[in-house]
Amino acid sequence: MGLTQQTLLIACNCGHCGTPFLQNLDPQRQKTYCSRSCRVNAYHMRQYYSLKVRDPAKIALKLSRNQRNAAAWREAALAKGLCVRCGRENDRTYQSLKVCTNCVIALKGGP
Ligand SMILES: [Zn+2]
Ligand SMILES: [Zn+2]
Repeated sequence: MGLTQQTLLIACNCGHCGTPFLQNLDPQRQKTYCSRSCRVNAYHMRQYYSLKVRDPAKIALKLSRNQRNAAAWREAALAKGLCVRCGRENDRTYQSLKVCTNCVIALKGGP
């Protein structure tokens, strides 16, 4: 047996391009990818997909947080008798309306 650890090779498929390649049998020195470029590309692809997968949840989370913040802000404004839109004094609180006269005018597109 003239084989040393270094000459013991096993066939693997590259984790990125799928090409079969030979590599060291030693598990400590095994590679997942056939080449450096495949390793780099696989890394970028992972980043890309993890971002893609993560983003919608992130956006939804951010949105719901914004919605919660907005709801809390509106509640606080109402409790203080302020307009929920502009945060200034609400002249229509007595009518239990949430938006002041100025804002109603602005919302309707001017006087
Ligand atoms: Zn490859
Ligand atoms: Zn207002």
